[in-house]
Amino acid sequence: MNLSARDKQVIWHPYTQIKGAVDAIPIVKGEGSYLIDESGNRYLDAISSWWVNTHGHAHPHIAKKVSEQLHTLEHSIFAGFTHPKAVELAERILEKLPNQSRVFFSDNGSTAVEVALKMAFQYWSNKGHEKNKVIVLEGSYHGDTFGSMSVSARGGFNQPFEQFLFDVLPIPFPKKGEEECTILALKEVLQQDGISSIIVEPLIQGAAGMRMYSPEVLEELFTLCRERNVLIIADEVMTGFGRTGKLFATDYIETKPDLVCMSKGLTGGTMALGLTAATSQIYEAFISDDKLKTFFHGHSFTANAVACSAACASLDLFDEQQTWDNIARIEIRFAKFAEEMKTTALFADVRHIGTVIAFELKTEGESSYFNNKREDIYNHFFEKKIILRPLGNVIYFLPPYCIEQEDLERVLKEIKEYLLSGLIDKKESINAWND
Ligand SMILES: *Cc1c(COP(=O)(O)O)cnc(C)c1O
Repeated sequence: MNLSARDKQVIWHPYTQIKGAVDAIPIVKGEGSYLIDESGNRYLDAISSWWVNTHGHAHPHIAKKVSEQLHTLEHSIFAGFTHPKAVELAERILEKLPNQSRVFFSDNGSTAVEVALKMAFQYWSNKGHEKNKVIVLEGSYHGDTFGSMSVSARGGFNQPFEQFLFDVLPIPFPKKGEEECTILALKEVLQQDGISSIIVEPLIQGAAGMRMYSPEVLEELFTLCRERNVLIIADEVMTGFGRTGKLFATDYIETKPDLVCMSKGLTGGTMALGLTAATSQIYEAFISDDKLKTFFHGHSFTANAVACSAACASLDLFDEQQTWDNIARIEIRFAKFAEEMKTTALFADVRHIGTVIAFELKTEGESSYFNNKREDIYNHFFEKKIILRPLGNVIYFLPPYCIEQEDLERVLKEIKEYLLSGLIDKKESINAWND
């Protein structure tokens, strides 16, 4: 039996309907922006393997550091103990987030969000206030655990669990040209008492279809919340580590969050690790003679030393000019391409920031993850050995920063051909003309 067949006997895959699922592609090697299968086929990883990979696959520097760490200390209990890589990572992250004063370790993006939410709720409870409401942006995605599902948009992903999710206060997404709506809704909501926090994906809503909004609106949302003493949680799980062109999306604005969630790009995409950074104001609310004011949260693998060493090695690469030159190279090329497509591709809304470019195809159906364009688009690019996994009718390109210029050009050319080809049916293109 080959690997795909053996996989089918024993494995349950994420976000995959079992019925009719195609065989999983057996990847045996990674190299720069490529994933290589058993038969030697090379696939260009144009989505950075679900947005985690920043420096390319099997990066030699990260591999070396992780390997050294494995031979030194693979893991140690983290309650009552510490180790050099955890301290180094925390120091280096806090240098880059000067408004934060402590980091808390967990395992992934969802747990980084859970930790932030629990800290925000308990912050108020430790201070003797009853505040249990959370403001969210419509269409948000913050993870798949119960707390993170609660603050995410309700819909297909979490429908069977809806009755278990806590209530939130959603405000409209600040769509271009309709920002005032969001601001007014926020002002209205802020009249209520008992609001603990706001949580947002800064500048880009990833899973919603790479929906983007401006730093000016983000600044205004944060300022209004700060004025009303509402804690600000920035979910930088997707936007962190260079995706938006700066290290963090919140680097674009002045008002800084109280809590910052990190994961995906944190280890360069090498290992699972989550971080939640908190301000001293939050941290100090947990210092008490009352044992019940302790933050009772921790995972078996909290601050795993190997994962911390991968994150430190990834930060080494962010200290190199080459990485930032690559990010700038992608950003400039994407900006130019977006301009070009805005005037030629009448069938799509084109969005761009930093190293993310997205094309929302106009379709008959609702623009969503469940739009049936998805399979067609995926298969079209897969035949060309390009991994582009659209979010419904949204095609996005989110490459590892080390992508070769020639590969970058190839993907853009294929996207352009797809957008301009007859593959989008006539009826839809006529609708687009009329829009
Ligand atoms: C992916 C993602 C998460 C969840 O992270 P996991 O590691 O998949 O649990 C949370 N927030 C945002 C913005 C994300 O993109």
